Amino acid sequence: MGYWQFIFVDVVDEKPLTKEENSLLTKVLRAKLVQSTKEVEVQRKDPKSPLYSVKSFEELPLKEALRRGVYGMGFNSPSKIQETALPMLLADPPNNMIAQSQSGTGKTAAFVLTMLSRVNPEESFPQVICLSPTMELAKQTGAVAEQMAKYCPEVKIAYAIRGNRLSRGEKLTSQIIIGTPGTLMDWILKVRAFDPKKIRVFVLDEADVMIDTQGHKDQSVRIHKFLPKDCQMLLFSATYEEQVMKFAESIIPEPIVIRLRREEESLENIRQFYVVCTGMEQKFESLSNMYGVISIGQCIVFCHTRKAAAWLSEKMSREGHSVALLSGEITVEQRIAVLNRFRAGKEKLLITTNVCARGIDIEQVSVVINFDLPMDRFNAPDFETYLHRIGRTGRFGRYGLAVNFVNEGRDLPLLKKIEEHFGRPIEELNTNDVDALE
Ligand code: ADP
Repeated sequence: MGYWQFIFVDVVDEKPLTKEENSLLTKVLRAKLVQSTKEVEVQRKDPKSPLYSVKSFEELPLKEALRRGVYGMGFNSPSKIQETALPMLLADPPNNMIAQSQSGTGKTAAFVLTMLSRVNPEESFPQVICLSPTMELAKQTGAVAEQMAKYCPEVKIAYAIRGNRLSRGEKLTSQIIIGTPGTLMDWILKVRAFDPKKIRVFVLDEADVMIDTQGHKDQSVRIHKFLPKDCQMLLFSATYEEQVMKFAESIIPEPIVIRLRREEESLENIRQFYVVCTGMEQKFESLSNMYGVISIGQCIVFCHTRKAAAWLSEKMSREGHSVALLSGEITVEQRIAVLNRFRAGKEKLLITTNVCARGIDIEQVSVVINFDLPMDRFNAPDFETYLHRIGRTGRFGRYGLAVNFVNEGRDLPLLKKIEEHFGRPIEELNTNDVDALE
């Protein structure tokens, strides 16, 4: 009884991240562009109007200082979505746009470039508004804008976020405002810090996260009503749910809709193995043996419970491994710190539970271990989580190795189901004889 009670508590007291937290985590940890083999899909009001995409930043109507800023960030050429979006975003007369693509594909860079290139630095009043769902996300976007505007010192950015107080009647001189809907609303209505009729570009970022908070959605709609008809309106979303698209079309008049479908994960580049064990102690020994015989670069181990994760991390540390443990009730900041250390190679082994593993870029890791098989509430194999843990995307993913530790009785049938589901072999591995791995 005590045992079951413990397991129960152990599983439920790990809170999944909120959408906002998840979005921040993904953003902060994403060090590089997510590549794509998919084609960008475009829907326009006039399908006959020419559609062109660019392969270089030189082909775009950009001020020299901005182009230098872009190159200075290490961008050599536009990303897939930027190739199609940027010519339309920068065209005159301006187009309204709804763009959807997964996180990391270059949306922020695209709209920040648009914002900066539409600003007239000689006029000292707000001309561009960008709304984000949280203060942290607003700061992230601002940091990108400041970097890109490195050679445009006249361009100033104001942050409409909690804690940035303006006194009543104070007039803003910054050309760009980045912030959250609540504070921005105050700046318009209470402070009257700027004239919304002079706004030329309005950006709604992370609209899918935004509409999840009712207050944010309503405030965004209200802010939108203050803007002039000819203001360029842009909306970005990482997901393509019906309610997001409905909202998008209700707020963005006559938009060009562009979409880059998600690259599916697959097990194509992965060699999958299983090791039969009796109990945790033996699983630990198998893991330890593996380290003895093959050179494992970076490795992630997934455990079912916090208790198992903590126990294993203790055991592995005692064996002399540098271990990062990601489990339990930790803040987003702490998660980011642990994951950043791991990503920088400070630890080679990351032990985690499933809930905590969000935001990890699996593709940099060469070995993934399922210390426990992923299962759903009904003790059936959780295929989606399995794929998410060990899958790689398209042809960009490097080769990887996945090892499943299974208990002889209960787990073997589950493993068979996983094998059948994906139609790819999972071979048995003897960790005392690991020639097969080399
Ligand atoms: P999204 O907004 O879709 O999540 P970002 O604009 O934040 O994507 O870009 C993801 C990552 O890729 C960032 O680290 C960004 O600096 C980088 N990036 C964006 N555009 C390019 C580009 N054209 N070339 C190289 N890296 C880029």
